[in-house]
Amino acid sequence: MFETSLDISFLAVSEPILDKVGQAIASATWANLGYLISATFFIFGIKGMTHPRTAVRGNMLGAIGMILAVLVTLWQFHGSTTAFLVVLLGVAMGTIVGVILAAKVQMTQMPQLVALLNGFGGIASLLVAGAEVVKKAAGIPYPAATGFAAALAGIIGAVTFSGSIVAAGKLHELPAFKDPIRFDGQQIANALLVGICLILAFVMMAGYGWPFWLLILLAGVLGVLLVSPIGGADMPVVIALLNSYSGLAACAAGFVINNNVLIIAGALVGASGLILTGIMCRAMNRSLAHVLFGTLEAKPGSVTADEIYSGKIKETSAEEIAMLLDSVQRVVFVPGYGLAVAQAQHIVRELAELLEARGAEVCYGIHPVAGRMPGHMNVLLAEAEVPYDQLKEMDEINPLFPQTDVVIVIGANDVVNPVALTDPNCPIYGMPILTVHEAKTVIVIKRSLSPGFAGIPNPLFAADNCLMYFGDGKKALNDLIAAVRES
Ligand code: NDP
Repeated sequence: MFETSLDISFLAVSEPILDKVGQAIASATWANLGYLISATFFIFGIKGMTHPRTAVRGNMLGAIGMILAVLVTLWQFHGSTTAFLVVLLGVAMGTIVGVILAAKVQMTQMPQLVALLNGFGGIASLLVAGAEVVKKAAGIPYPAATGFAAALAGIIGAVTFSGSIVAAGKLHELPAFKDPIRFDGQQIANALLVGICLILAFVMMAGYGWPFWLLILLAGVLGVLLVSPIGGADMPVVIALLNSYSGLAACAAGFVINNNVLIIAGALVGASGLILTGIMCRAMNRSLAHVLFGTLEAKPGSVTADEIYSGKIKETSAEEIAMLLDSVQRVVFVPGYGLAVAQAQHIVRELAELLEARGAEVCYGIHPVAGRMPGHMNVLLAEAEVPYDQLKEMDEINPLFPQTDVVIVIGANDVVNPVALTDPNCPIYGMPILTVHEAKTVIVIKRSLSPGFAGIPNPLFAADNCLMYFGDGKKALNDLIAAVRES
């Protein structure tokens, strides 16, 4: 596909060769035109995804752009049957793995899968760069800039891969990933690793290929050391950042193999991932440096679950809640990760419609980091066809809580935990929360008093105005609907 990068000093040798080069240039021009069109689809696709109403169309446009890019790339291989077959084999293998994953992975495991896919993106870029390094070792030279781009693809790709594996392990709550790797001087070690990787990158610019393998090993260790200590509730920032890294690695790989669509698509993913990282940092009220280098363990001195809950939990039933809901004016639903686990999105919309039909004003309070991936709650509620105008962001809904009769929290915990406002020792201190405790009555639906992702107790459950309705989200809401209908 890249015949244009051949040394053309031999053109004078014969006319057939001249013809071949001419054809190659024409082929590259058509290919770049195809890539330009697919890049345009990507840009309109991303634009579409800025609003739930246009998100499906945006997704479709992005997919069309990607199909076009793949077709153009395949077309460039039409001269070499072997290369064409190898690419098709890769596509077939990827498709089989993708279909199996899509069929097997449960909806609640999507965040881990997304983290893994980021990692696969990183390692794919690393391998593309590695292939160029191998070709160089076999006597096919490349310019200094390509060596540097290969080094960058290797560094970022390896950090993305190992970091994403750790992130996926944490999201899957695997015991092996639970305990953070921490040691004195860790930040100095990280800085040293970055420094050595960069020095190796400059060595590669000088024409050597061997530093590549050392550099990806060190960058892999760096990825583990960077992500392992991040816990508490700061994972959304890491996921967004790793997503951005996977794009930057692809962009660097695009420079290595001189592929315009890879450069553009990688840059788009890199830039949009960085914007998302900024949004997540704002949602958590953190700086990026704080997330990457801060320590977020619960410190001694933070109150224990026993101290908070003992003797103060008030349990309620579907019938009692139905009576409460009898004459309410405003009800706010606050969904969290447990809504996704219970797959209760359709049933919550059914309850909302029932209450609306009885004259109540209904809306949903959406915290930006609720669930386990950015936009998780929006996706779930859109799937259940909840009207978009009922979804209220944190800044919009918080002032309404004092005038709200009933808030129904379904499987949310950290995002409604008031200690984030009051306890400087807790790992979510400083994170803005949905201030549901300011409503007249709060009903919390969850299975037990277990903590959420940050692993800390929640004083909301023991508050005077809070009633606990224990049970699986879907079953509890079904029972509640039956009770409301009967009341
Ligand atoms: P949390 O993880 O704080 O709490 C979820 C609650 O859901 C649990 O306390 C659990 O309690 C309950 N639950 C689980 N299954 C069910 C079920 N079947 N029915 C009813 N309840 C259930 O969720 P939040 O959404 O409040 O907060 C998200 C957390 O995840 C934040 O800390 C955030 O930072 C973090 N995070 C977010 C990411 C993102 O991008 N959005 C990415 C990674 C992490 P019980 O077991 O008692 O039922």
